[in-house]
Amino acid sequence: MKKYILALDQGTTSSRAILFNKFGEIVAQKKKEFPQIFKENGYVEHNPNDIWSSLLTAAREVLLSKNLDAGDISSIGITNQRETTIIWDKETGEPVYNAIVWQCRRTSDYCKELVKNGYSEMIKEKTGLIIDPYFSATKIKWILDNVSGVRERAKSGRLLFGTVDSYIIWKLTEGRVHATDYSNASRTMLFNINTLEWDDDILKLLGIPKSMLPKVCESSDDYGYTKLIGKGKIKICGVAGDQQASLFGQTCFNKGDFKCTYGTGAFLLMNTGSEPVISQNGLLTTIAWSVDGKIAYASEGSVFAAGAAVQWLRDGIKIIDSAAESEPLALSVPDTNGVYFVPAFVGLGAPYWNSDARGVLCGLSRGTTKEHIARSALEAIAYQVNAVIEVMEADSGIKINTLKVDGGACENNFLMQFQSDITDCEVLRPMCIETTALGCAYLAGLKSGYWKSMNDIKNNQKIDYKFTPDIPETKRTALLSGWEKAVERTTL
Ligand code: ADP
Repeated sequence: MKKYILALDQGTTSSRAILFNKFGEIVAQKKKEFPQIFKENGYVEHNPNDIWSSLLTAAREVLLSKNLDAGDISSIGITNQRETTIIWDKETGEPVYNAIVWQCRRTSDYCKELVKNGYSEMIKEKTGLIIDPYFSATKIKWILDNVSGVRERAKSGRLLFGTVDSYIIWKLTEGRVHATDYSNASRTMLFNINTLEWDDDILKLLGIPKSMLPKVCESSDDYGYTKLIGKGKIKICGVAGDQQASLFGQTCFNKGDFKCTYGTGAFLLMNTGSEPVISQNGLLTTIAWSVDGKIAYASEGSVFAAGAAVQWLRDGIKIIDSAAESEPLALSVPDTNGVYFVPAFVGLGAPYWNSDARGVLCGLSRGTTKEHIARSALEAIAYQVNAVIEVMEADSGIKINTLKVDGGACENNFLMQFQSDITDCEVLRPMCIETTALGCAYLAGLKSGYWKSMNDIKNNQKIDYKFTPDIPETKRTALLSGWEKAVERTTL
Protein backbone atom coordinates (compact mmCIF):
# COMPACT_ATOMS: atom_id res chain seq x y z
CA MET A 1 0.00 0.00 0.00
CA LYS A 2 1.51 3.31 -1.09
CA LYS A 3 1.28 5.76 1.74
CA TYR A 4 1.97 9.20 0.38
CA ILE A 5 2.35 11.57 -2.56
CA LEU A 6 5.62 13.48 -2.81
CA ALA A 7 5.23 17.08 -4.02
CA LEU A 8 8.34 18.83 -5.31
CA ASP A 9 7.85 22.60 -5.23
CA GLN A 10 10.69 24.35 -7.04
CA GLY A 11 10.21 28.04 -6.19
CA THR A 12 12.10 31.24 -6.92
CA THR A 13 14.05 31.35 -3.67
CA SER A 14 13.81 27.79 -2.37
CA SER A 15 13.14 24.19 -3.31
CA ARG A 16 10.76 22.23 -1.15
CA ALA A 17 9.67 18.64 -0.83
CA ILE A 18 6.36 17.93 0.90
CA LEU A 19 4.68 14.62 1.69
CA PHE A 20 0.88 14.58 1.56
CA ASN A 21 -1.49 11.92 2.83
CA LYS A 22 -4.88 10.86 1.44
CA PHE A 23 -6.64 13.74 3.22
CA GLY A 24 -4.37 16.29 1.55
CA GLU A 25 -2.61 16.92 4.86
CA ILE A 26 1.10 17.64 5.19
CA VAL A 27 2.97 14.75 6.77
CA ALA A 28 6.51 16.12 6.48
CA GLN A 29 8.39 18.79 4.60
CA LYS A 30 11.94 19.96 3.86
CA LYS A 31 13.05 23.22 2.39
CA LYS A 32 16.40 24.22 0.85
CA GLU A 33 17.17 27.77 -0.12
CA PHE A 34 19.56 28.39 -2.99
CA PRO A 35 21.57 31.42 -4.18
CA GLN A 36 20.03 34.20 -6.25
CA ILE A 37 22.39 35.63 -8.82
CA PHE A 38 21.87 39.37 -9.30
CA LYS A 39 24.26 40.71 -11.90
CA GLU A 40 25.40 44.34 -12.08
CA ASN A 41 23.31 45.09 -15.14
CA GLY A 42 20.12 44.04 -13.34
CA TYR A 43 20.08 40.51 -14.78
CA VAL A 44 18.55 37.84 -12.51
CA GLU A 45 19.78 34.25 -12.84
CA HIS A 46 19.89 30.91 -11.04
CA ASN A 47 22.49 28.22 -11.41
CA PRO A 48 20.53 25.18 -12.72
CA ASN A 49 22.80 22.91 -10.68
CA ASP A 50 21.69 24.76 -7.51
CA ILE A 51 18.05 24.35 -8.51
CA TRP A 52 18.56 20.63 -9.05
CA SER A 53 20.75 19.83 -6.05
CA SER A 54 18.57 21.80 -3.60
CA LEU A 55 15.46 19.98 -4.83
CA LEU A 56 17.03 16.53 -4.82
CA THR A 57 18.42 17.06 -1.31
CA ALA A 58 15.03 18.24 -0.01
CA ALA A 59 13.33 15.21 -1.61
CA ARG A 60 15.79 12.69 -0.19
CA GLU A 61 15.72 14.29 3.25
CA VAL A 62 11.95 14.36 3.51
CA LEU A 63 11.79 10.61 2.88
CA LEU A 64 14.56 9.98 5.37
CA SER A 65 12.83 12.15 7.99
CA LYS A 66 9.94 9.67 8.07
CA ASN A 67 12.04 6.59 7.44
CA LEU A 68 10.37 6.00 4.09
CA ASP A 69 11.53 4.47 0.84
CA ALA A 70 10.52 4.76 -2.80
CA GLY A 71 7.98 1.97 -2.31
CA ASP A 72 6.01 4.13 0.12
CA ILE A 73 5.39 6.84 -2.45
CA SER A 74 2.53 6.53 -4.93
CA SER A 75 3.91 9.19 -7.26
CA ILE A 76 5.69 12.52 -7.55
CA GLY A 77 4.07 15.84 -8.49
CA ILE A 78 6.15 18.77 -9.63
CA THR A 79 5.30 22.44 -9.43
CA ASN A 80 7.67 25.22 -10.31
CA GLN A 81 8.57 28.87 -10.67
CA ARG A 82 7.15 29.63 -14.08
CA GLU A 83 8.76 31.03 -17.26
CA THR A 84 12.34 30.66 -15.98
CA THR A 85 14.39 29.40 -18.91
CA ILE A 86 17.10 26.72 -19.08
CA ILE A 87 18.96 25.39 -22.12
CA TRP A 88 21.19 22.34 -21.75
CA ASP A 89 23.20 19.87 -23.80
CA LYS A 90 21.40 16.56 -24.17
CA GLU A 91 24.63 14.57 -24.43
CA THR A 92 26.46 15.98 -21.42
CA GLY A 93 23.51 17.31 -19.40
CA GLU A 94 25.44 20.57 -18.92
CA PRO A 95 23.46 23.82 -19.06
CA VAL A 96 24.88 26.19 -21.69
CA TYR A 97 24.06 29.22 -19.53
CA ASN A 98 22.50 29.99 -16.15
CA ALA A 99 18.72 29.82 -15.82
CA ILE A 100 17.27 33.20 -16.78
CA VAL A 101 14.73 33.92 -14.07
CA TRP A 102 11.18 35.13 -14.83
CA GLN A 103 11.92 38.46 -13.12
CA CYS A 104 14.80 39.27 -15.45
CA ARG A 105 14.05 42.18 -17.79
CA ARG A 106 17.08 41.74 -20.10
CA THR A 107 14.97 41.36 -23.21
CA SER A 108 12.89 44.55 -22.72
CA ASP A 109 14.29 46.29 -25.78
CA TYR A 110 13.62 43.32 -28.03
CA CYS A 111 10.07 43.05 -26.67
CA LYS A 112 9.49 46.75 -27.36
CA GLU A 113 10.69 46.15 -30.91
CA LEU A 114 8.21 43.29 -31.35
CA VAL A 115 5.42 45.56 -30.12
CA LYS A 116 6.55 48.38 -32.40
CA ASN A 117 6.60 46.02 -35.36
CA GLY A 118 2.96 45.17 -34.74
CA TYR A 119 3.16 41.61 -33.34
CA SER A 120 1.07 42.23 -30.20
CA GLU A 121 -2.27 41.09 -31.61
CA MET A 122 -0.84 37.96 -33.23
CA ILE A 123 0.96 36.93 -30.03
CA LYS A 124 -2.09 37.61 -27.89
CA GLU A 125 -4.40 35.65 -30.15
CA LYS A 126 -2.11 32.65 -30.35
CA THR A 127 -0.61 32.53 -26.85
CA GLY A 128 -3.04 34.54 -24.70
CA LEU A 129 -0.08 36.61 -23.47
CA ILE A 130 1.11 40.18 -23.70
CA ILE A 131 4.57 40.55 -25.25
CA ASP A 132 6.87 40.86 -22.24
CA PRO A 133 10.40 39.84 -21.13
CA TYR A 134 8.69 37.86 -18.33
CA PHE A 135 7.88 34.93 -20.63
CA SER A 136 10.41 32.33 -21.81
CA ALA A 137 10.44 32.98 -25.58
CA THR A 138 12.69 36.05 -25.69
CA LYS A 139 14.92 34.61 -22.96
CA ILE A 140 15.61 31.58 -25.21
CA LYS A 141 16.38 33.91 -28.09
CA TRP A 142 18.75 35.87 -25.85
CA ILE A 143 20.76 32.76 -25.01
CA LEU A 144 20.86 31.69 -28.68
CA ASP A 145 22.04 35.16 -29.71
CA ASN A 146 24.50 35.86 -26.91
CA VAL A 147 26.21 32.67 -25.81
CA SER A 148 29.00 31.69 -28.14
CA GLY A 149 28.34 28.63 -30.30
CA VAL A 150 24.89 27.97 -28.86
CA ARG A 151 22.85 28.76 -31.97
CA GLU A 152 24.88 26.29 -34.05
CA ARG A 153 24.60 23.59 -31.39
CA ALA A 154 20.86 24.21 -31.13
CA LYS A 155 20.45 23.94 -34.91
CA SER A 156 22.35 20.65 -34.93
CA GLY A 157 19.79 19.25 -32.46
CA ARG A 158 22.13 18.89 -29.47
CA LEU A 159 20.46 21.35 -27.17
CA LEU A 160 17.22 21.17 -25.21
CA PHE A 161 15.11 23.95 -23.79
CA GLY A 162 12.92 23.64 -20.76
CA THR A 163 11.13 25.63 -18.13
CA VAL A 164 12.17 24.46 -14.66
CA ASP A 165 9.66 21.59 -14.63
CA SER A 166 11.14 20.11 -17.83
CA TYR A 167 14.66 20.41 -16.54
CA ILE A 168 13.74 18.64 -13.30
CA ILE A 169 11.88 15.87 -15.11
CA TRP A 170 14.89 15.38 -17.39
CA LYS A 171 17.25 15.22 -14.39
CA LEU A 172 14.97 12.94 -12.36
CA THR A 173 14.59 10.53 -15.27
CA GLU A 174 18.35 10.72 -16.03
CA GLY A 175 17.73 12.11 -19.50
CA ARG A 176 15.02 9.70 -20.56
CA VAL A 177 12.12 12.17 -20.63
CA HIS A 178 12.05 15.68 -22.11
CA ALA A 179 8.55 16.93 -21.42
CA THR A 180 6.46 19.72 -19.96
CA ASP A 181 2.76 20.18 -19.23
CA TYR A 182 0.20 22.47 -20.84
CA SER A 183 0.21 24.98 -17.98
CA ASN A 184 3.96 25.55 -18.23
CA ALA A 185 3.98 25.48 -22.03
CA SER A 186 1.37 28.23 -22.04
CA ARG A 187 3.83 30.56 -20.25
CA THR A 188 6.58 30.34 -22.86
CA MET A 189 4.93 32.68 -25.42
CA LEU A 190 5.68 29.93 -27.99
CA PHE A 191 2.65 27.73 -27.40
CA ASN A 192 -0.59 28.16 -29.28
CA ILE A 193 -3.30 27.78 -26.64
CA ASN A 194 -6.00 27.26 -29.27
CA THR A 195 -4.38 24.53 -31.39
CA LEU A 196 -2.42 23.15 -28.40
CA GLU A 197 0.82 23.02 -30.37
CA TRP A 198 4.13 24.83 -30.43
CA ASP A 199 3.53 27.69 -32.85
CA ASP A 200 5.64 27.55 -36.01
CA ASP A 201 5.11 31.24 -36.87
CA ILE A 202 6.40 32.44 -33.52
CA LEU A 203 9.31 29.98 -33.57
CA LYS A 204 10.28 31.31 -36.99
CA LEU A 205 9.92 34.93 -35.90
CA LEU A 206 12.30 34.36 -32.98
CA GLY A 207 14.61 31.92 -34.76
CA ILE A 208 14.11 29.10 -32.24
CA PRO A 209 14.63 25.52 -33.56
CA LYS A 210 11.64 23.32 -32.79
CA SER A 211 13.92 20.38 -31.98
CA MET A 212 14.83 22.09 -28.68
CA LEU A 213 11.30 22.04 -27.33
CA PRO A 214 9.86 19.48 -24.94
CA LYS A 215 6.90 17.23 -25.63
CA VAL A 216 3.76 18.74 -24.11
CA CYS A 217 1.77 16.37 -21.90
CA GLU A 218 -1.29 16.60 -19.68
CA SER A 219 -0.79 18.02 -16.19
CA SER A 220 -1.85 14.65 -14.82
CA ASP A 221 0.11 12.22 -16.99
CA ASP A 222 2.86 9.64 -17.21
CA TYR A 223 6.24 11.40 -17.06
CA GLY A 224 8.36 8.30 -16.52
CA TYR A 225 10.03 7.42 -13.25
CA THR A 226 12.99 8.32 -11.11
CA LYS A 227 15.46 6.02 -9.37
CA LEU A 228 17.22 8.86 -7.59
CA ILE A 229 14.98 9.26 -4.52
CA GLY A 230 15.13 6.30 -2.15
CA LYS A 231 15.72 2.73 -3.28
CA GLY A 232 13.54 1.71 -6.21
CA LYS A 233 11.46 3.62 -8.72
CA ILE A 234 8.94 6.41 -8.16
CA LYS A 235 6.61 7.47 -10.97
CA ILE A 236 6.29 11.14 -11.91
CA CYS A 237 2.61 11.77 -12.60
CA GLY A 238 1.77 15.45 -12.07
CA VAL A 239 3.20 18.74 -13.35
CA ALA A 240 1.88 22.32 -13.23
CA GLY A 241 3.28 25.84 -12.96
CA ASP A 242 2.98 27.31 -9.46
CA GLN A 243 -0.08 29.56 -9.89
CA GLN A 244 -2.04 26.98 -11.84
CA ALA A 245 -1.08 24.32 -9.29
CA SER A 246 -2.43 26.53 -6.54
CA LEU A 247 -5.72 26.97 -8.47
CA PHE A 248 -5.92 23.17 -8.61
CA GLY A 249 -4.90 22.79 -4.96
CA GLN A 250 -7.74 25.15 -4.03
CA THR A 251 -10.04 22.77 -5.95
CA CYS A 252 -11.15 25.58 -8.25
CA PHE A 253 -12.38 22.97 -10.72
CA ASN A 254 -15.44 24.78 -12.06
CA LYS A 255 -15.88 27.68 -14.41
CA GLY A 256 -15.92 30.90 -12.36
CA ASP A 257 -13.94 29.43 -9.44
CA PHE A 258 -11.34 31.88 -8.34
CA LYS A 259 -8.29 32.12 -6.10
CA CYS A 260 -5.91 34.81 -4.96
CA THR A 261 -2.41 34.16 -3.61
CA TYR A 262 -1.21 36.95 -1.31
CA GLY A 263 2.59 36.89 -1.35
CA THR A 264 5.09 39.62 -2.19
CA GLY A 265 2.76 40.31 -5.12
CA ALA A 266 -0.75 38.94 -5.49
CA PHE A 267 -1.70 36.43 -8.17
CA LEU A 268 -5.32 36.08 -9.18
CA LEU A 269 -6.56 33.24 -11.36
CA MET A 270 -10.07 32.43 -12.48
CA ASN A 271 -11.07 29.14 -14.06
CA THR A 272 -12.83 30.15 -17.27
CA GLY A 273 -13.77 26.60 -18.29
CA SER A 274 -13.10 24.86 -21.56
CA GLU A 275 -12.77 28.03 -23.66
CA PRO A 276 -10.07 30.71 -23.46
CA VAL A 277 -11.37 34.19 -22.62
CA ILE A 278 -9.33 36.87 -24.33
CA SER A 279 -9.20 39.93 -22.09
CA GLN A 280 -10.20 43.42 -23.10
CA ASN A 281 -8.46 44.78 -20.02
CA GLY A 282 -4.90 43.52 -20.20
CA LEU A 283 -5.33 40.27 -18.26
CA LEU A 284 -3.51 37.16 -19.44
CA THR A 285 -5.15 34.05 -20.82
CA THR A 286 -3.45 30.86 -19.86
CA ILE A 287 -3.97 27.12 -19.66
CA ALA A 288 -4.84 26.11 -16.12
CA TRP A 289 -4.31 22.37 -16.60
CA SER A 290 -5.24 19.38 -18.64
CA VAL A 291 -6.70 16.35 -16.89
CA ASP A 292 -8.42 13.34 -18.51
CA GLY A 293 -8.10 14.88 -21.95
CA LYS A 294 -9.91 18.04 -20.86
CA ILE A 295 -8.26 21.44 -20.95
CA ALA A 296 -9.24 24.11 -18.43
CA TYR A 297 -8.33 27.70 -19.24
CA ALA A 298 -7.75 30.50 -16.77
CA SER A 299 -7.69 34.24 -16.75
CA GLU A 300 -4.78 35.70 -14.78
CA GLY A 301 -4.05 39.09 -13.29
CA SER A 302 -1.40 40.18 -10.87
CA VAL A 303 -0.77 42.92 -8.37
CA PHE A 304 2.92 43.85 -8.25
CA ALA A 305 3.07 45.04 -4.63
CA ALA A 306 0.85 43.22 -2.12
CA GLY A 307 2.83 41.83 0.85
CA ALA A 308 5.61 44.11 -0.41
CA ALA A 309 3.63 47.05 1.04
CA VAL A 310 3.87 45.40 4.45
CA GLN A 311 7.56 44.67 3.93
CA TRP A 312 8.03 48.38 3.29
CA LEU A 313 6.36 49.27 6.61
CA ARG A 314 8.81 46.90 8.28
CA ASP A 315 12.05 47.48 6.37
CA GLY A 316 11.51 50.87 4.69
CA ILE A 317 9.90 53.22 7.21
CA LYS A 318 10.31 50.74 10.11
CA ILE A 319 6.97 51.34 11.83
CA ILE A 320 6.50 47.61 12.50
CA ASP A 321 8.90 44.85 13.55
CA SER A 322 7.11 41.98 11.86
CA ALA A 323 4.56 41.59 9.06
CA ALA A 324 2.06 40.08 11.52
CA GLU A 325 2.19 43.21 13.70
CA SER A 326 0.35 45.12 10.96
CA GLU A 327 -2.88 43.36 11.99
CA PRO A 328 -3.25 44.55 15.62
CA LEU A 329 -2.13 48.02 14.56
CA ALA A 330 -4.79 48.19 11.83
CA LEU A 331 -7.46 46.89 14.19
CA SER A 332 -6.60 49.43 16.88
CA VAL A 333 -8.17 52.25 14.83
CA PRO A 334 -11.72 52.33 13.40
CA ASP A 335 -10.55 53.50 9.96
CA THR A 336 -7.57 55.09 8.21
CA ASN A 337 -8.76 58.60 9.10
CA GLY A 338 -8.89 59.46 5.39
CA VAL A 339 -5.42 58.12 4.56
CA TYR A 340 -4.86 56.17 1.34
CA PHE A 341 -1.62 54.43 0.46
CA VAL A 342 -1.03 53.26 -3.12
CA PRO A 343 2.12 51.09 -3.08
CA ALA A 344 2.96 51.62 -6.76
CA PHE A 345 6.67 51.06 -6.04
CA VAL A 346 7.29 49.55 -9.47
CA GLY A 347 4.30 50.97 -11.34
CA LEU A 348 0.79 49.53 -11.38
CA GLY A 349 -0.32 46.33 -13.11
CA ALA A 350 -3.84 45.27 -14.10
CA PRO A 351 -6.13 47.06 -14.63
CA TYR A 352 -4.20 50.33 -14.46
CA TRP A 353 -1.14 49.30 -16.51
CA ASN A 354 0.97 52.30 -15.67
CA SER A 355 4.67 51.55 -15.43
CA ASP A 356 5.45 55.21 -14.66
CA ALA A 357 3.18 55.29 -11.60
CA ARG A 358 4.94 55.61 -8.24
CA GLY A 359 3.69 55.14 -4.69
CA VAL A 360 1.65 57.78 -2.86
CA LEU A 361 0.53 58.24 0.71
CA CYS A 362 -2.21 60.86 0.75
CA GLY A 363 -4.88 62.32 3.01
CA LEU A 364 -2.41 62.93 5.85
CA SER A 365 -3.40 65.23 8.74
CA ARG A 366 -1.84 66.09 12.10
CA GLY A 367 -3.95 63.30 13.54
CA THR A 368 -2.40 60.63 11.28
CA THR A 369 -0.62 57.90 13.25
CA LYS A 370 1.34 54.82 12.32
CA GLU A 371 -1.79 52.79 13.04
CA HIS A 372 -3.58 54.61 10.22
CA ILE A 373 -0.66 54.06 7.87
CA ALA A 374 -0.47 50.35 8.70
CA ARG A 375 -4.19 50.04 8.10
CA SER A 376 -3.95 51.91 4.80
CA ALA A 377 -1.20 49.53 3.59
CA LEU A 378 -3.35 46.47 4.27
CA GLU A 379 -6.40 48.09 2.74
CA ALA A 380 -4.31 48.92 -0.35
CA ILE A 381 -3.67 45.21 -0.92
CA ALA A 382 -7.40 44.55 -0.89
CA TYR A 383 -8.22 47.52 -3.15
CA GLN A 384 -5.70 46.35 -5.75
CA VAL A 385 -6.98 42.78 -5.67
CA ASN A 386 -10.52 44.11 -5.96
CA ALA A 387 -9.60 46.13 -9.05
CA VAL A 388 -8.36 42.97 -10.79
CA ILE A 389 -11.48 41.07 -9.75
CA GLU A 390 -13.66 43.80 -11.27
CA VAL A 391 -12.00 43.48 -14.68
CA MET A 392 -12.08 39.69 -14.53
CA GLU A 393 -15.79 39.85 -13.93
CA ALA A 394 -16.20 42.29 -16.81
CA ASP A 395 -14.12 40.16 -19.22
CA SER A 396 -15.76 36.86 -18.38
CA GLY A 397 -19.27 37.99 -17.54
CA ILE A 398 -19.03 35.85 -14.40
CA LYS A 399 -19.77 37.35 -10.97
CA ILE A 400 -17.35 36.17 -8.31
CA ASN A 401 -19.16 35.15 -5.15
CA THR A 402 -16.39 33.30 -3.41
CA LEU A 403 -12.71 34.07 -3.22
CA LYS A 404 -10.35 31.31 -2.14
CA VAL A 405 -7.12 32.62 -0.65
CA ASP A 406 -3.61 31.46 0.13
CA GLY A 407 -0.06 32.85 0.43
CA GLY A 408 1.74 34.36 3.44
CA ALA A 409 -0.41 37.48 3.87
CA CYS A 410 -3.72 35.57 3.88
CA GLU A 411 -3.02 34.86 7.53
CA ASN A 412 -3.90 38.48 8.24
CA ASN A 413 -7.53 38.42 9.44
CA PHE A 414 -8.01 42.15 9.11
CA LEU A 415 -6.89 42.02 5.48
CA MET A 416 -9.18 39.09 4.68
CA GLN A 417 -12.21 40.73 6.32
CA PHE A 418 -11.53 43.99 4.49
CA GLN A 419 -11.19 42.08 1.22
CA SER A 420 -14.56 40.46 1.83
CA ASP A 421 -16.12 43.85 2.65
CA ILE A 422 -14.67 45.74 -0.28
CA THR A 423 -15.27 43.02 -2.89
CA ASP A 424 -18.62 42.10 -1.39
CA CYS A 425 -17.90 38.38 -1.56
CA GLU A 426 -17.12 35.48 0.73
CA VAL A 427 -13.44 34.86 1.40
CA LEU A 428 -12.46 31.27 2.17
CA ARG A 429 -9.16 30.47 3.80
CA PRO A 430 -8.29 26.75 3.68
CA MET A 431 -6.61 24.85 6.50
CA CYS A 432 -3.72 23.94 4.23
CA ILE A 433 -2.34 27.12 2.69
CA GLU A 434 0.44 25.18 0.89
CA THR A 435 -1.96 24.95 -2.01
CA THR A 436 0.72 25.07 -4.70
CA ALA A 437 2.38 21.88 -3.52
CA LEU A 438 -1.00 20.35 -2.78
CA GLY A 439 -2.14 21.09 -6.35
CA CYS A 440 0.70 19.17 -7.97
CA ALA A 441 0.25 16.37 -5.44
CA TYR A 442 -3.42 16.10 -6.46
CA LEU A 443 -2.48 16.06 -10.17
CA ALA A 444 0.02 13.28 -9.55
CA GLY A 445 -2.27 11.28 -7.26
CA LEU A 446 -5.11 11.34 -9.77
CA LYS A 447 -2.90 9.69 -12.37
CA SER A 448 -1.32 7.14 -10.04
CA GLY A 449 -4.70 6.14 -8.61
CA TYR A 450 -4.01 7.50 -5.11
CA TRP A 451 -7.15 9.61 -5.47
CA LYS A 452 -10.01 8.32 -7.60
CA SER A 453 -11.52 11.49 -8.99
CA MET A 454 -11.60 15.25 -8.71
CA ASN A 455 -14.73 14.82 -6.58
CA ASP A 456 -12.79 12.62 -4.20
CA ILE A 457 -10.26 15.45 -3.83
CA LYS A 458 -12.91 18.10 -3.34
CA ASN A 459 -14.05 16.33 -0.20
CA ASN A 460 -10.58 16.88 1.23
CA GLN A 461 -10.86 20.62 1.32
CA LYS A 462 -11.14 21.91 4.84
CA ILE A 463 -11.89 25.54 5.53
CA ASP A 464 -10.02 27.31 8.29
CA TYR A 465 -12.20 30.41 8.21
CA LYS A 466 -14.96 31.98 6.15
CA PHE A 467 -15.07 35.79 6.03
CA THR A 468 -18.38 37.33 4.99
CA PRO A 469 -19.03 40.92 3.87
CA ASP A 470 -20.05 43.19 6.70
CA ILE A 471 -20.24 46.84 5.61
CA PRO A 472 -23.07 48.91 4.16
CA GLU A 473 -23.02 49.45 0.41
CA THR A 474 -22.77 53.25 0.82
CA LYS A 475 -19.58 52.91 2.82
CA ARG A 476 -18.14 50.46 0.33
CA THR A 477 -18.80 52.82 -2.57
CA ALA A 478 -17.31 55.78 -0.70
CA LEU A 479 -14.13 53.86 0.19
CA LEU A 480 -13.69 52.65 -3.39
CA SER A 481 -14.14 56.13 -4.84
CA GLY A 482 -11.48 57.46 -2.43
CA TRP A 483 -9.11 54.72 -3.60
CA GLU A 484 -9.62 55.58 -7.27
CA LYS A 485 -8.82 59.23 -6.52
CA ALA A 486 -5.64 58.18 -4.74
CA VAL A 487 -4.65 56.03 -7.75
CA GLU A 488 -4.96 59.11 -9.97
CA ARG A 489 -2.32 60.81 -7.85
CA THR A 490 0.30 58.13 -8.59
CA THR A 491 1.35 59.83 -11.80
CA LEU A 492 3.26 63.03 -11.13
P1 ADP B 1 6.44 34.98 -1.46
O1 ADP B 1 6.15 33.58 -1.88
O2 ADP B 1 6.13 36.03 -2.48
O3 ADP B 1 7.81 35.16 -0.84
P2 ADP B 1 4.81 34.48 0.92
O4 ADP B 1 3.61 33.73 0.49
O5 ADP B 1 5.88 33.77 1.67
O6 ADP B 1 5.41 35.32 -0.30
O7 ADP B 1 4.29 35.71 1.82
C1 ADP B 1 5.18 36.67 2.29
C2 ADP B 1 4.60 38.07 2.11
O8 ADP B 1 3.43 38.19 2.90
C3 ADP B 1 5.56 39.14 2.56
O9 ADP B 1 5.51 40.19 1.63
C4 ADP B 1 5.02 39.60 3.91
O10 ADP B 1 5.22 40.98 4.10
C5 ADP B 1 3.54 39.27 3.81
N1 ADP B 1 2.98 38.80 5.10
C6 ADP B 1 3.31 37.68 5.78
N2 ADP B 1 2.57 37.56 6.90
C7 ADP B 1 1.75 38.64 6.92
C8 ADP B 1 0.73 39.10 7.83
N3 ADP B 1 0.40 38.41 8.92
N4 ADP B 1 0.11 40.25 7.52
C9 ADP B 1 0.40 40.94 6.40
N5 ADP B 1 1.35 40.56 5.52
C10 ADP B 1 2.01 39.42 5.78
